[in-house]
Amino acid sequence: MLLGVESEARERETVLVSACLLGRPCRYDGRSRPDEPLARALEAEGVAVLGFCPEEEGGLPTPRPPASLTGEGAAAVLDGHGRVLTDGGADVTAAFVAGAEAALAACRAHLVRRAFLKERSPSCGVETTHVAGARVEGRGVTTELLARAGLCVEGVEGGSEGD
Ligand code: SF4
Repeated sequence: MLLGVESEARERETVLVSACLLGRPCRYDGRSRPDEPLARALEAEGVAVLGFCPEEEGGLPTPRPPASLTGEGAAAVLDGHGRVLTDGGADVTAAFVAGAEAALAACRAHLVRRAFLKERSPSCGVETTHVAGARVEGRGVTTELLARAGLCVEGVEGGSEGD
């Protein structure tokens, strides 16, 4: 028993990070937004990093049309009365919700308590996201679900490639 406790204490914390911030070209435009300061900070902390792209995990292709939330934002999407629409009007709500649920499942599987997520994304935004085609204050769908589950969510701007 004691050995088990000691072993657990030695295990590294795992944090979830938006995959595009780690250099994976999974954004809607097929590009990434690698964030070097974040990578250095996480390395200095010695944590294990779990890269995750909710939109790809939800079944969307890359590249894909940009999308934004309808008026009431991410909470309404999760509560079943908001939608996520592409700029062309296609309804991608189910994929966004599936990606959020997959992110939460990954966090639970890896005992993740902190997530570092890409600002402005309709999935990953923490302080800002896109609603009705405009950048506004508010969370993305995945961020909202992780926050509801009690995770600490931190927004990251990302590096200079693309936008
Ligand atoms: S912001 Fe989130 S959903 Fe968008 S590409 Fe990055 S990881 Fe994927």
